[in-house]
Amino acid sequence: MADRILLNATKGKPKSLSLCNKELKNVPSLIGKITSLKAVDLKNNVLTDLPEEFSFLKQLESLNIGNNKFEDLPEVLAFVSGLQRLHLFNNQLSHLNSLVLSGMQKLTFLNLNGNKLQSLPREINRLVSLEFLSVDHNHLCSVPIEICHLINLTELHLADNQISSLPEDMTFLRSLTKLYVYKNFIEELPEGLSKCTQLRVLDVSANRLRVFPAELSNLPLKELYCEENNLLQHIPVHSQQEDEVLALKEISARLVLKELKNGRSYVKRFIRHYPKVQEMLQFATDCAVCGQSFLNTWLECVHFVDARKVLRTKTRPGIIPVRGLLCSYKCFNTEGHDYFGIAYVGET
Ligand SMILES: [Zn+2]
Repeated sequence: MADRILLNATKGKPKSLSLCNKELKNVPSLIGKITSLKAVDLKNNVLTDLPEEFSFLKQLESLNIGNNKFEDLPEVLAFVSGLQRLHLFNNQLSHLNSLVLSGMQKLTFLNLNGNKLQSLPREINRLVSLEFLSVDHNHLCSVPIEICHLINLTELHLADNQISSLPEDMTFLRSLTKLYVYKNFIEELPEGLSKCTQLRVLDVSANRLRVFPAELSNLPLKELYCEENNLLQHIPVHSQQEDEVLALKEISARLVLKELKNGRSYVKRFIRHYPKVQEMLQFATDCAVCGQSFLNTWLECVHFVDARKVLRTKTRPGIIPVRGLLCSYKCFNTEGHDYFGIAYVGET
């Protein structure tokens, strides 16, 4: 029957072709003759590969091979270089052939939901045009840093996997507007996420988060979903320790950082000759209480914000804990701020 549909199609110049729900094991090679095709829908079959003749479909922009039996990306796709949208949901993919990825430079949409992927290859960064990537319901344990090179990405779905952390370099995903990572094992969101200045939807429900990144309020979030996490409770704790002795490196770093804020300081001119030092000082943070910069001896604190008021979200996640970093116990013990020490209430 598929043959007959194809034979009929060769008589005209159809732009689209559908062969869904046909229990197809193979696509007849005749398809290579219908070079006018822009969209091919082959979902709900039992395909494991595509014929070589697919490479003649130079106009093909959209391909749906969802709900089939593919175990890897069909190799011929490396030669369908105009492909923009690829649906591969509900297959048996446990691997993504990096050579095929390298050939798909125009791909903007990729749906890999419901497969058996344990990881994404580093070559995912070859998909330079990618705007939408969905890898929900797979077996991912980690996310490669290379995903952060996809600077056109606006939507990223990684829900229902076994991911324990997200790369700090997410800060490079400047076009990202929606991030869905619900149902994973994430314990901490990268601070870099606060630099994704287009992010409007963040779904981190059902993870292991205790606190949100310090600069969460920089995000233009409209929707935040965070139920079913280990978020800290609003219980004040007082510091036991009064003061601490800083290491010499930290004392000098703080001195230099203070000088750098003074535009006329000679240290500012001098430091240009020490790129290593400059590099190190990039990781400095400002104290949430006194505003002074410090390098790495800090006290992790938390303050509680009404997400709806501070972030202006439409959703109502309620009061959420946001990380705050303090320079010293002295600042912590200063009165008049609302930062609390982190206590492990309810944990052993
Ligand atoms: Zn301070």
